[in-house]
Amino acid sequence: MERHPGDAPHSATTRCDLVVVGAGPAGLAEAFWALHARPDQRVVVVEAAPVPGGWVRTEEVDGFRLELGPQALRPSDSLDALIAALGMEGEVVPASASAKLRHVGRGGRLIPVPTGPGAFLGTPLLPLSAKLRLLTEPFRRKRADVDPTESISSFVGRRFGRHAVPLVQAVVSGIFAGDADHLEVGSAFPLLAEAERQHGSVFAGMKAKARTAREAHRGAHRPKRPALLSFRTGMQTLTDRLASALGDRLMLGAAAERVTCGGDAYRVTLADGRSFDTQNLILACPARVSESLLRGLDRDLAADLGGVPYASLASVYLDLDAALIPATMRGFGFLLEPGESSEVLGGLSCSDVFPDHAPEGRFLCRMMMGGRRFPDLVDRSDEELVALATSTLGTYTGYRGPARAIRVARVHSAIPQYEEGHHARLERIGTRLRERHPGLRLRGNSYRAIALTGQLGTPTPDPV
Ligand SMILES: Cc1cc2nc3c(=O)[nH]c(=O)nc-3n(C[C@H](O)[C@H](O)[C@H](O)COP(=O)(O)OP(=O)(O)OC[C@H]3O[C@@H](n4cnc5c(N)ncnc54)[C@H](O)[C@@H]3O)c2cc1C
Repeated sequence: MERHPGDAPHSATTRCDLVVVGAGPAGLAEAFWALHARPDQRVVVVEAAPVPGGWVRTEEVDGFRLELGPQALRPSDSLDALIAALGMEGEVVPASASAKLRHVGRGGRLIPVPTGPGAFLGTPLLPLSAKLRLLTEPFRRKRADVDPTESISSFVGRRFGRHAVPLVQAVVSGIFAGDADHLEVGSAFPLLAEAERQHGSVFAGMKAKARTAREAHRGAHRPKRPALLSFRTGMQTLTDRLASALGDRLMLGAAAERVTCGGDAYRVTLADGRSFDTQNLILACPARVSESLLRGLDRDLAADLGGVPYASLASVYLDLDAALIPATMRGFGFLLEPGESSEVLGGLSCSDVFPDHAPEGRFLCRMMMGGRRFPDLVDRSDEELVALATSTLGTYTGYRGPARAIRVARVHSAIPQYEEGHHARLERIGTRLRERHPGLRLRGNSYRAIALTGQLGTPTPDPV
């Protein structure tokens, strides 16, 4: 047995072909695909929590299906492949057609987001001058030097005009619980920045992307995909299924404590003293955890990992009377623009999107609050959060019926923020891993893709 710095004498070490730290969606999918490619390899996934799935968590309460983490998934080719590999095609539940409908809160009321050219021309969300400005985006000159560190607000203002900025800020708070003035467009929405760089315009880039996708699937009889999907027993079905495919290769309640390197292998030591040696190590835990695991191995790399900021979020789940739901609550839900008097980020009409998420005659609404703009809100009492949720719901949607709080859920330091410096940080991390730590890879949503679908792709050799 090899001795590594910091080892306890006589600790038991197991040699593995692949060790994955973290059994959130990213770690589970990496291990699953690795075994799919080579079933005979020795894989171990260590997870600190007593259950797998990371932030993906579904609870059934009083006939309501509560998603404590992601509410839905966006389909993609890699998600299709994963669902097929798990044999879960029959368990997919598409979002209802009304999920296309969304509202934005401005000036104390909700305004529908236009879904077609006619609605776009008529929407009060933008003045006529701003609509014309938006239509001229393809003719706007691109920046001579593409700046991946430009903020989303600056990019949108430059390409689409200043009136489009608050709308995009609302969307960003829905995706990142973040602040569009600080998130880097090249990191948070790389397709937008890339569209400008390659095609000179966002619209032209999107058109080209759609054309490429059509060509790639020409001749293939692919059923039309829903905009969003879930599973028959909720989002956790997917991570539970991945976890059971791993069997006893998945170790729960097994927190990694440090990573060292001696000779030809990395050694992952758990808090209970057990350890695993491997030449292939994937850290699929949050970057702030990877920081502490790697501190003894590479201080500079750890410092970069520790630089990724996170947002916290609270959700209040409300049981409403389905017979009294106003039209403003039909569809996916609403997001408030910054500058509104409420600290709520938005509300999701969960049971309008997935009718099986509420019992007959009831309506499930998830009000989300906190995020980067209101960082301390998550620490307020349940009573305060419920009061904020119900008063904001009444003000914006006009719902006047009874509202019963089913649950208040908080996630602390849960959503990574690709803010100023993220692009440069990833460049440094990638270089460091390539040059000094071959076989060590970083996965998960701390780096390049914030949403769940981005964590479920087939493995790539990229270090980060
Ligand atoms: C409230 C909320 C709502 C969301 N809504 C959506 C949505 O609607 N749609 C969408 O697409 N995405 C959504 N997301 C994002 C989505 O949940 C994430 O993209 C996804 O969970 C990230 O997966 P991950 O594996 O990278 O990380 P995580 O889910 O964070 O998993 C990391 C795992 O590492 C484990 N770990 C930590 N430390 C250690 C250690 N020392 N040793 C071993 N294991 C460790 C953790 O316990 C955890 O299980 C939402 C996220 C949150 C928080």
